Amino acid sequence: MAASPFLRAGLIGHPVAHSRSPALQQAAFDALGIPARYELWDTEPRDLPDRVAALRQPDLLGANVTIPYKVAVCELLDTARSEEARITGAVNTIVREPSGDHVTLAGYNTDVSALRRIFTEYARRLRGVRMLVLGAGGAARSAAAAALLEGIEPWIAARRPEAARGLLTEMGRTVALPTSTHALDLMDKDGLAAAMRETAILVNATPIGTLDSAASSIALTLLDDLPADAFVFDMVYNPPVTALARAASARGLRASGGLPMLLYQGAAAFTLWTGQPAPLDAMRAALGLV
Ligand code: NAP
Repeated sequence: MAASPFLRAGLIGHPVAHSRSPALQQAAFDALGIPARYELWDTEPRDLPDRVAALRQPDLLGANVTIPYKVAVCELLDTARSEEARITGAVNTIVREPSGDHVTLAGYNTDVSALRRIFTEYARRLRGVRMLVLGAGGAARSAAAAALLEGIEPWIAARRPEAARGLLTEMGRTVALPTSTHALDLMDKDGLAAAMRETAILVNATPIGTLDSAASSIALTLLDDLPADAFVFDMVYNPPVTALARAASARGLRASGGLPMLLYQGAAAFTLWTGQPAPLDAMRAALGLV
């Protein structure tokens, strides 16, 4: 049987059918004339080791990894290549790195590098400021890691404050946390209002607002407590402009929904696989961002 002329990359997760990565990555391959296909690899937990091992095949560029495998996949790789992956203990991009007869599977976290890029591009103030992250799951961990790598102090507010404390404690094992870093109760409106007054970057890392353009993880009046030069980032990208981002813009604050994060994490993965700058215009168009 003749070998396929196509290189391949794909998304490992469960479920994956909803993902926008195929449109994003295929647009990038096509724009640069790279003969590669991006596939969806829906993977049951018992099949994860074989799925990752298959990335050693010569026609593979690598993979993206999504829920629920970003942490579990780490122990199946040869190395965590980036600081972002090491700090979070989570990988969303695997790169096949051949060297002679040997292949290394290297893990990266481009969710975190995308967030660093967004904070650098959008926020008016960076080093030494405070970020308030709403939620304490995987996305909140990425935001806190990006903050620490940019010299920003992450505070975390969650409906289960013990989860926020746990996340900070766990991160503190691999990276030095500022001593004033704090965990808050998402339901404590007065505590949140006080924290907002010292917050330069507010990040929603809960799913609230997904498919509901009226829902928000906090009372929108709390935005009045933010400084006038604060940046509000909502990781939710469907709808592209959430109630939180819309209300922040209406108050004259800089604000964005989550699509730029989807774009930049994909662009960084593309560059890691191909060694080429990502064709951002084509990728933006694939996400409807033009
Ligand atoms: P996750 O690990 O399930 O964590 C979700 C967090 O939100 C948890 O702390 C959870 O609290 C909290 N939460 C959920 N429902 C809540 C509610 N009704 N009220 C208050 N808190 C609530 O999910 P994740 O992976 O971090 O993802 C979070 C969101 O970020 C998702 O919408 C995801 O699509 C988005 N995201 C976007 C991008 C992007 O590229 N833009 C990338 C990654 C993630 P409990 O633990 O108490 O349930």
